[in-house]
Amino acid sequence: MARVHNFSPGPATIPTEVLQQAADELLDWRGTGMSVMEMSHRSADYEPVVAEAEADLRALLAVPSNYRVLFMQGGALAENAIVPLNMLRGRGVADYVDTGIWSVKSMTEARRYGTVNAIASSRGDAYVRVPKQDEWRPTPGAAYVHICGNETIGGIEYQWTPDVVAAYGNDDTPLVSDVSSHILSRPVDVSRYGLLYGGAQKNVSMAGLTFVIVRDDLIGHAHPLCPSAFDYKVLADNGSMFNTPPTYAIYLAGLVFKWLLARPAAIGRPELSPMAAMESLNVEKAQLLYAALDASAFYTTRIVPEDRSRMNVTFRLQDDDALTMPFVQAAAEAGLKGLKGHRAVGGIRASIYNAMPREGVVALVDFMREFERTHG
Ligand SMILES: *Cc1c(COP(=O)(O)O)cnc(C)c1O
Repeated sequence: MARVHNFSPGPATIPTEVLQQAADELLDWRGTGMSVMEMSHRSADYEPVVAEAEADLRALLAVPSNYRVLFMQGGALAENAIVPLNMLRGRGVADYVDTGIWSVKSMTEARRYGTVNAIASSRGDAYVRVPKQDEWRPTPGAAYVHICGNETIGGIEYQWTPDVVAAYGNDDTPLVSDVSSHILSRPVDVSRYGLLYGGAQKNVSMAGLTFVIVRDDLIGHAHPLCPSAFDYKVLADNGSMFNTPPTYAIYLAGLVFKWLLARPAAIGRPELSPMAAMESLNVEKAQLLYAALDASAFYTTRIVPEDRSRMNVTFRLQDDDALTMPFVQAAAEAGLKGLKGHRAVGGIRASIYNAMPREGVVALVDFMREFERTHG
């Protein structure tokens, strides 16, 4: 079996152990004589799959008891509409911080449902940094303030949590974050947020599953035209089973959660929490790659050091137009796939999610040195 190192931004690499277990259980799950994907979502067999997945996610992120975990569909892009439909709560105005392509998409969608105020933006700096909180111009009484915790395309990430109480002078404007591409990569204090959401296909599972973690009191205020299947209250009251959930994607997420829970022991650091263990591994991987970029004039990243994403490392080659495609092709031939930057920004992007082993990053750095030696 030859598995490549897959640097794809999403759908993305999944731990080999998890795929192996899914393969072993594909035809006959725990003696039921059927695959998880063939089971009724309301059957007694499937019940523990979703219950354990939720319990394990809660344990991993220490989700407080006054938050609900919802398993939905439609991806983060659908959620860009579902968030305002549920969270505007009759107020009409929501604040957004603009850090790049995904923030812009979120704002564009939300504008269909209310007034969107971009209260800070790094657009003028070509999105190479995250605006600081003292640059925010908050709207008093805004229904919520939305950030994108990690801009998957641009490669910038919040290394801090906004203090919305300080920004708004009260606790009436909850913080909402699109965490599609960095959920479970580091510890997060869920209590600082009103809502966290994302598509599972980056750092959690396969495509088809959207996760939402939302504070109780924010549920139950959906716009009358919000589809029932997208109303957080309907979802919460039905244990995410108002309609058929993406059963196999939830099962696969559950396997990934168990893999994460086992990481501290697996890396010989049982004293660490799973998220602290992942953070230390992810910091180490990101530092390896950024150190290689900083040490070379052949490769450059424009992202300011304090806002560099640990998950999506974006950079360019010295002779970008001539060398980017040869770099991507030669890397693929060397078993390093999915490195082409997003079509909107070009260049190279290495997505180094939880499931990317340290060896993958080392192999990439070695390849980069060799490519520079032969093309620099
Ligand atoms: C991938 C991504 C999206 C889009 O997710 P879909 O599942 O394709 O809707 C939105 N936001 C961020 C930050 C992403 O990385």
